[in-house]
Parts: sequence; structure tokens; C-alpha cells
Amino acid sequence: MDDLQDLYQEMILDHNRRPRNCRKIEVGACSAEGHNPLCGDRVKVFVQMDGDVVRDVAFEGSGCAISTASASMMTEAVKGRTRQQVKDLFHRFHDMVTGAIESSGQAPAESTGLGKLAVFSGVGKYPARVKCATLAWHTVNAAMDQTQDVVTTE
Ligand code: ZN
Repeated sequence: MDDLQDLYQEMILDHNRRPRNCRKIEVGACSAEGHNPLCGDRVKVFVQMDGDVVRDVAFEGSGCAISTASASMMTEAVKGRTRQQVKDLFHRFHDMVTGAIESSGQAPAESTGLGKLAVFSGVGKYPARVKCATLAWHTVNAAMDQTQDVVTTE
């Protein structure tokens, strides 16, 4: 049970209960949908770009606590960043949740620059949950680049 308590930290629960930026952007936004068939998570992400900068971002969808909290925290993390900064952040986040960043005794937040997103570092212990945590990130990238309308995690 310790591991589970680790995983479902208070911040994740809080974002699941009260997701931030959980709304539609009706005008002037690009969007993409993400689907994680393994867990049944669905998310639609809206991105409003101002040149190369994310001016506004929002999501709606339904899924497990991890996917909802991750989408909520993703929107807070990417707002105001450039396209390239969002991609860099996603790569670091992905490396963290897939365990590519070895814990070296440092706090994850310090070693990765991920800040609050480090609360998802425990997800790496649950491989089936990694796709829940990364779904919104795959989807925001697809929305920004308009490469795919629907993203399905494999
Ligand atoms: Zn899920």
C-alpha cells in the first residue's frame, strides 16, 4: 500500500478532483483527441498559439485519476511556453515516467527541471499507468503541430 500511496499523492488527487483548465476553447484553437485503450482514458486538448508561444491551453475528457491529473498539470506546465519548450518538457516528462532518468538520490524536480510534474515519477513503477500519464502530452503535441486529429497510445 505504501507504493500506491506514493503514486496517488495528494497533488494528483487534488488535480483529479478539481482539474485546472478543464474547458473548451471555442475560437481560434487547434485541437486533437487522445485515446488510451488500455485504460479507457479519453482526452481532447485545445491549444491556442500566439506565433510560437502557447497562449492558452485547455482540455476535456474522462479517464482515470492519473490521466485527468496529468492533463490538468500539463495545461499549467505548458501555458506561456514555446513550441520547442513544450517538446523538451514532454521528453523529460516521458523519460521520467518511463524510468529513463535514474534516481540518483536527488529530488527528481531538481534533476529534471520538471517542477511539480515530478509527482508523476512514481508512475514508472506501474508500466500500465505510463500511458495514462503521457496521454495528454502526446495529444497536446499533436494539437500544436496539427499532425494527427486522433492520437492512440499503443
Ligand atoms: Zn488511465
